[in-house]
Amino acid sequence: MTERLLLQGGTVYDGLGGPGRVADVAVVGGRVVAVGGELPAGLRRLDCRDLGVAPGFVDTHAHSDLVHLLDQPQPFKLLQGVTTEVVGNCGLGFAPLDAASAEVAGTLWSSLAGGVGIEPAGFGELADRLDRAGPANNLALLVGHGTVRLTANGLEERLSPGAADRMASLAAEAFRAGAVGLSSGLIYVPGSYADTGELVALARVAASYGGVYATHLRDEGAHLAAALDEAVTIAGSAGARLQVSHCKAAGRAAHGMAGLLLDRLAAARLDGIDAQGDQYPYDAGATVLSALLPPAVAAGGTEAMLARLRDPAARAALRAQAERGGIGDGAWVEADPADVLLTGHRDTGLAGRTLAEAAGARDPWDTLCELVADDPAATIVVRLMREDDVRAIMASPLVGVGSDNVPTTGLGHPRTWGCFPRLLGRYVRELGVLSWEQAIRKATWLGARQFRLDGRGLLVEGAVADLCVFDPATVGHGGTYLDPDTGVTGIPHVVLAGDLVVEDGRFTGRRSGRVLRGNGAAARPGR
Ligand SMILES: [Zn+2]
Repeated sequence: MTERLLLQGGTVYDGLGGPGRVADVAVVGGRVVAVGGELPAGLRRLDCRDLGVAPGFVDTHAHSDLVHLLDQPQPFKLLQGVTTEVVGNCGLGFAPLDAASAEVAGTLWSSLAGGVGIEPAGFGELADRLDRAGPANNLALLVGHGTVRLTANGLEERLSPGAADRMASLAAEAFRAGAVGLSSGLIYVPGSYADTGELVALARVAASYGGVYATHLRDEGAHLAAALDEAVTIAGSAGARLQVSHCKAAGRAAHGMAGLLLDRLAAARLDGIDAQGDQYPYDAGATVLSALLPPAVAAGGTEAMLARLRDPAARAALRAQAERGGIGDGAWVEADPADVLLTGHRDTGLAGRTLAEAAGARDPWDTLCELVADDPAATIVVRLMREDDVRAIMASPLVGVGSDNVPTTGLGHPRTWGCFPRLLGRYVRELGVLSWEQAIRKATWLGARQFRLDGRGLLVEGAVADLCVFDPATVGHGGTYLDPDTGVTGIPHVVLAGDLVVEDGRFTGRRSGRVLRGNGAAARPGR
């Protein structure tokens, strides 16, 4: 039920970067019908004096795909002011999956499922299921390269005859069902097995439906430059827009490379490629523990992987590869075992301990292999970035905001609960890295534009009434790596397509979100 609302007396930010100005905002029929000026009568008033009124935040990089299928609504993003999440990132979507690929995904990616069973489903089928379930916030779905590769070719490194065509047709089907882009995760199996040409072919499919190419680069450490070049080549050859996911300079060898990353994005734009990125405002990332291993570990399937991890000779060979630290050799050389915090593992007693602590007097590499063998979907929070790089990337107008949240049932990363409030509280109010206008533009329009979420991410007359009301004096999140899931402060109201879904900081219980379909869906016969 959409309401007739008047958000009165707040400082309004348009999301485009324009200066904040005090104005009343009128919402009728799910749309913003006035910003200042002539206002309709008979509206329910919300006092917004001393508060900011912004477009609802767009989380361009989320992994909340399946948690919205849970019986209980999941408002952890809504409470941060996020009204739309882009999911299916890092090549790891949950459709299209057949019986065989769903089983593999259930082994490797279950930590991304948040306790929901991974079942075979076509892309449109999953989108419809999510729509029917009623997500707490809107979802826009990417089709994952890793997912279509898994379904077309299993965990084999080489593509079998016909697999490339099968991948392209699965991707096209996803776009016709409303995918907004193609994602890749080039450190995760099986995405990491792809060469550049394979990715160009699929990005072409994305481009033909107006979709973006969003990529977790093949390397975010010492080989960042080469990995960025590959991403730009893929987008450029395919004629697709480019979104570089969770921009960072990861590991000691890459510290200080923030400028290089931003220069590459700017250079791509000079070459006519619509390139930008997203970032989460933290010095630690979160991923699966297995990302520290060379992807070759999983070649041939999960049974083969487990056998390798338990075989001393295979372990030694993997270690030699990991320590080479070349592109595609895994993230082992980037991470100090003392900076790897175990957050989710079948052995729940490990949560909150570092890999170094878990190893004790034993060798950390052997401990890593054993822990992955015991639970291939185990998760970590890993400190990889230097704060000056984080701030330099944040200051760029070409980089928006993506939480990269993993809906883990374990300890988790504070970004799941506090990414957007932290950006505003810590980096705008406390540190002044960004102005309010800049931060809000990055959190709204910048992402909505790149993912073509039409009518969203900006607060002007006629826009969809997705709104976030925040208190500039108190907005923030106190979550830490050891105590991540604390509550948000300073986000009193959130409006989703005219529904007041957060009121006085509390979720009202309405599951008002829906799946936002990309332009490819419009071309579908019968729609
Ligand atoms: Zn990623």
